[in-house]
Amino acid sequence: MRKIDSAERSAELVRQTLLLMKQHGAPMHPIDHAVWYEYARGENLDLRGAIDRHLGHHLQLDEAVTEALYRRHVVGAGHDPAMLQRVSDSASTVLGAVVETAARAGDQTAAYGSSLSRFHEGLSGHDEALPGLAEILATTRQMQGAIQDLQRRLAESRDEIGQLRDELDRVRLEAQTDTLTGLFNRRAFDQRLAACMTLAASAGLQSQAPCLLLLDIDHFKRVNDTHGHVAGDLVLRAVAGVLQATTPEHAMAARIGGEEFVLLLPALQIQAARLLAEQLRQRVQMLRTPIHPGTPAEIQVTASIGLTTLQRGETGAQFVERADQALYQSKSSGRDRITVKLG
Ligand code: GH3
Ligand code: MG
Ligand code: MG
Repeated sequence: MRKIDSAERSAELVRQTLLLMKQHGAPMHPIDHAVWYEYARGENLDLRGAIDRHLGHHLQLDEAVTEALYRRHVVGAGHDPAMLQRVSDSASTVLGAVVETAARAGDQTAAYGSSLSRFHEGLSGHDEALPGLAEILATTRQMQGAIQDLQRRLAESRDEIGQLRDELDRVRLEAQTDTLTGLFNRRAFDQRLAACMTLAASAGLQSQAPCLLLLDIDHFKRVNDTHGHVAGDLVLRAVAGVLQATTPEHAMAARIGGEEFVLLLPALQIQAARLLAEQLRQRVQMLRTPIHPGTPAEIQVTASIGLTTLQRGETGAQFVERADQALYQSKSSGRDRITVKLG
């Protein structure tokens, strides 16, 4: 579930972040900002410990150390994807505001410079009346140049943040994707299920209870044993393709185990889910996967399905457990079938 800080808390954290960065002489770079923001937030204990330990021996975090901390404790594997979202959101909010302020300061200085110029021209030949005026004019132009330079550098940082955000999006997606099939993975499913449970608890009786469908390929071990692991992988991909094509909008298809798949159906009545399960079962049965791409020999498989719907007051684990029991029943009563278990 996304745990995004409120606007007030974000603003306070950004203030603390900038203060920490100033205290420790950190450059105004998105990666430094990301690291110090998480430090200020205080929940990333590993990061906090690593920084405190480092500062115990050194004066500041140099570029290499900051980058290493960022890779390990901010975008590193196993971290909360909401954190990545917070970090990139807060960094771009800060820089967006700073770029705007610098642009305003630049405009004001330019306006001030032009009125000074006009004033100077109006005095034509009477410079002796205000001896410091030429110097003020020169300083103003210098200031304008410095602000333009600042604007340019800020815009560059903003672009870097854009790249950082793209990288975060890519890392986040990768962390949720099953590499073999391209479906969501177990981790993404667990997160979606938790979100679904929270939603169901807060919506209470008004909402449609979600359905859960577990699908397990029958005797898949035999496919591997007979045709080899590579051919087995092709079958897994083909079954994943069927799931992807059969998944309605708002539903989620994921591969949660070797040859086990799940469909989380948040807005479907059990009868409709039952029809969908039947469609899935038939489509898997109709699949013919070539043993080697381009050869006529084909593999045919079947799948067993367990289907259930969320009961009031139960946990996500209980919900999944019942779908699993339904699947087990399909297996033990002959495979290639669907069992619906309600409550
Ligand atoms: P059942 O009908 O009872 O489900 O029998 P099964 O053979 O499908 O189930 P079992 O759990 O005994 O075997 C599952 C097999 O799936 C064993 C494992 O080698 C294979 N498997 C798991 N992950 C992968 C994978 O990524 N690729 C391939 N090719 N095989 C995999
Ligand atoms: Mg199986
Ligand atoms: Mg299995």
